[in-house]
Amino acid sequence: MGRLLGPKCRLCRREGQKLFLKGTRCETDKCGLARRDSPPGMHGYRRGKMSSYGEALREKQKTKRYYGVLDRQFRRYFAEASRSKGNTSDMLLSILERRLDNIVFRMGVASSRADARQMVVHGHIKLNGRKTDIPSLLVKAGDEIAVSQKEKSVKRARAGLEVSRGRPVPDWLQFDPATLKGLVKNLPTRDDVSLPVNERVIVELLSR
Ligand code: SF4
Repeated sequence: MGRLLGPKCRLCRREGQKLFLKGTRCETDKCGLARRDSPPGMHGYRRGKMSSYGEALREKQKTKRYYGVLDRQFRRYFAEASRSKGNTSDMLLSILERRLDNIVFRMGVASSRADARQMVVHGHIKLNGRKTDIPSLLVKAGDEIAVSQKEKSVKRARAGLEVSRGRPVPDWLQFDPATLKGLVKNLPTRDDVSLPVNERVIVELLSR
């Protein structure tokens, strides 16, 4: 299982927008992008106009980084989206949104997707009553996601909730902070994904 390593704020500076990879820090004036909004590297500002290929590549990288997904996995999601009925670009974002680590983040019990991923890997999360340690699992409508009732797990989830207060739970999810249980009411559509990304150019890029 791969995951993104290295300095996270650099990734936001490269994309020129906040990807919210560091939890609470992202909302403060310590945010790396707020402090320095130039692209990373010595010649950050000196690059010329980007080609359409370059723009599509940036959209793909931005989406991968936002969800913490590596290239091989991203291409698998694209292949799955291409096989599905419906619009490939919409399906691609819907699939990414259905990842278990993203659901844990959306429920608000983790401060970032990286934190949510770690909660899953460390066994703090149950899917339909069974412990799972696979952050890339794709949830289905009707699935129940719950924080394990172990003291350590509850403590961690409560700390996550404290940090994520004010971040709304999306309409397609139901979450009860008292029991720390969530339910996938229906699968997310493109309209449910607020990520400012041009997914059409990503599909064009990967279809070449
Ligand atoms: Fe990105 Fe700012 Fe968060 Fe760093 S602190 S990961 S620059 S949003």
